[in-house]
Amino acid sequence: MLRLPGYEVLNALEHGNTVQVEIKHDRLPTFCPQCGVSGPRIRRYGTIKKAFLDLPHGDRQVILFIDHQRFQCLECSRTFMGPLPDMADGHGMTKRLVDFIKRMSMSHTFTYVAELAGVDEKTVRSLFREYSGYLDDKRDLITPRVLGIDEISLMGRPRAVFTNIEKKTLVEMLPSRDKQSVRRFLATLDPKAVEAVTADLWEPYHDLARDLFPRALVVADKFHVMRQANLCVDAVRKALAPDDTTRRFLMRKRLLLQKRFRQLTGRDEETLADLEARFPALHDAYLAKETFYDLYACQSRKEAVEAFQGWAGTLPVSVAPQFGRLIAMVERFHAAIFDYWEQPFTNAYTEGANALIRRVFNDGRGYTFAVIRAKVLHAYGSQKFRHPRLRRDVCYKLSLYPPTYGTCLSTVGLQPPEGPIPVKST
Ligand SMILES: [Zn+2]
Repeated sequence: MLRLPGYEVLNALEHGNTVQVEIKHDRLPTFCPQCGVSGPRIRRYGTIKKAFLDLPHGDRQVILFIDHQRFQCLECSRTFMGPLPDMADGHGMTKRLVDFIKRMSMSHTFTYVAELAGVDEKTVRSLFREYSGYLDDKRDLITPRVLGIDEISLMGRPRAVFTNIEKKTLVEMLPSRDKQSVRRFLATLDPKAVEAVTADLWEPYHDLARDLFPRALVVADKFHVMRQANLCVDAVRKALAPDDTTRRFLMRKRLLLQKRFRQLTGRDEETLADLEARFPALHDAYLAKETFYDLYACQSRKEAVEAFQGWAGTLPVSVAPQFGRLIAMVERFHAAIFDYWEQPFTNAYTEGANALIRRVFNDGRGYTFAVIRAKVLHAYGSQKFRHPRLRRDVCYKLSLYPPTYGTCLSTVGLQPPEGPIPVKST
């Protein structure tokens, strides 16, 4: 009835919402854990009453009661407790309940699992911590050939996020982006395997990448570079507003100003012409941004460098203060920005990574960073494994432990994994 081999049910009674089962385990120990002698002469030395919480039965809690036998070894005369297979003695639960809580806590909120298992949330939290530590140890991460370094702001702090650009996976996230912790993580990767790094415009990332991966080309992420031009347009717009009405009016033109030239509708063009008449500097800013974006259409590094110099040299005076910052930034990251033409990789998958992280965050308000990280890396989405007998580039759900490329970002829309059986995703 219990499916616990070796145990005998003596009695069972229902008590409100609980089922209390009295059980017995009578196997004799085969060795003495105190002196190590096998097949020792022993004698019974009293019992201790113990209770173990088991998997719930329907909506009822199941509690197992047992008289735990103590023995005395006649070889060394010390005493020890008899074996209790399938019980997690330290937790006061059956091992199968512990496993159930660990598995469920990966894909559900702690409150829900606590209610389901009939334990308090603290227990769920601590088992989760134990399990995610185990999964971290088991994880055999394949060093990305093309590494993406980026960040996400979570609970008011920037957190470093690492992706495998080629395999479209999220490989790690750190509680902060400070140089020391980023270095510590990067040092765990195989320096010979990294051939390119694309990073956002945070200098320490570039310094560390050059330092730790001397063979790799470090490229400034195209989207982050382009974004800077948009920020310049915003700065021009904000500088133009003498009063609240104008400020709000221009604020509403924000999205229009972010559009690419080719995306403009007829109405957009009219609005833009109107803006040109009223706020010529804003129109200049829009054109400066568009021309800057066009750099990325250049065919070669040389062409791009020349186009940039031409652009910077002909910038209208009206927007010079704001775009001057962009010019300074391009000069500062010159090599990394123009190395894009040697290795045109971008952090395009960061969007997917951020969406995944936000989803885990939103699913469980109040999670600590460590919990979000563990759920992102071990439970949500799926792992992209390198598996010798299976086709590469196929996503499998958790949770076998072959080398992994990280959490798949092309499957972010999927439900959390249900069980350990690998299922081919779509
Ligand atoms: Zn002994």
